[in-house]
Amino acid sequence: MIPAAFSYHAPASISDATALLAQYGDNAKILSGGQSLIPLMKLRLATPEHLIDINRIPDLAYVRESGGVLSIGALARESDLEESELARARFPILLDTSKVIADPLIRNLATVCGNLAHADPANDHPATMLVLGAELVAVGPKGERRIPIDGFFVGPFTTTLGSDEILTEVRIPTPPSRSGGVYLKLERKVGDFATAAVAAQITLSAIGTCERVGIGLTNVGPTPIVARRAEEFLRGKRLDEGGIKQAAILAAEESQPESDLRGSAEYKRDLIRVLTARALRKALERAGGGR
Ligand SMILES: Cc1cc2nc3c(=O)[nH]c(=O)nc-3n(C[C@H](O)[C@H](O)[C@H](O)COP(=O)(O)OP(=O)(O)OC[C@H]3O[C@@H](n4cnc5c(N)ncnc54)[C@H](O)[C@@H]3O)c2cc1C
Repeated sequence: MIPAAFSYHAPASISDATALLAQYGDNAKILSGGQSLIPLMKLRLATPEHLIDINRIPDLAYVRESGGVLSIGALARESDLEESELARARFPILLDTSKVIADPLIRNLATVCGNLAHADPANDHPATMLVLGAELVAVGPKGERRIPIDGFFVGPFTTTLGSDEILTEVRIPTPPSRSGGVYLKLERKVGDFATAAVAAQITLSAIGTCERVGIGLTNVGPTPIVARRAEEFLRGKRLDEGGIKQAAILAAEESQPESDLRGSAEYKRDLIRVLTARALRKALERAGGGR
């Protein structure tokens, strides 16, 4: 379990890091928490010739809110999000997500940005960020660009991030009042990747109808899936039990699970139906001020 030989670089700034990426191209990889990359290297499934460790770059480890946007810096760890009072008070769905990722030792190192950049369909943050309408900030040789999360995941372990770009921040618009969201995951045992999971985020109108709705599915397809038909069905409607059940059926139809050690495709599809209904009920409760 020893990785192939590589050269190690520890740049002190983002511009030094992007210069190294530009120099070494596809032979280089960014190292943040190392909780996905190092195991892959040990298994020789990844053999980068150059590792660019961004951990010594200052001022990237933040979770802060300003101007109606929650910003999560590239070196914010899962544990930072878990311990963030801001997340606890205003973004319980983020807390739901972080606390079901792996175990505390891994969460002390794994970064939120790394979770998105890695784009494992089994990773938990992508579905949550999709329903929150997050925007990503990437820096490359041509400067900074903003990437809407919708469309960022294009295949298993594949995103629209250029090989010469670094993800420096996730930006999440603060949901308006009467909003609620939740992340529900079924795992075989604590610390495992999801058998299936669902993120739901809603905003109610003044008359109690569903003004905004996001439903994201984890580990039931080659990328995280936005259940667009289920969302469309709910938009403008009251979230009553009949509507919730119908949306859950639509979300299950939109999932694309495969049978594996975690269960059959049929089981996972039904799990999506059950989790979507539960997630919508909980999101509704939170939108009304519940925890
Ligand atoms: C035993 C175990 C269980 C796990 N369980 C779960 C789980 O239940 N749910 C879950 O979501 N995850 C799980 N993980 C994965 C863990 O959360 C990942 O480590 C994390 O998602 C990746 O973040 P990282 O900072 O460790 O990234 P790294 O491992 O450092 O990097 C991962 C990939 O992303 C790239 N990358 C990282 N940061 C950036 C950046 N800022 N800009 C551009 N590219 C970047 C790297 O080049 C690399 O290709 C588990 C991991 C382990 C080892």
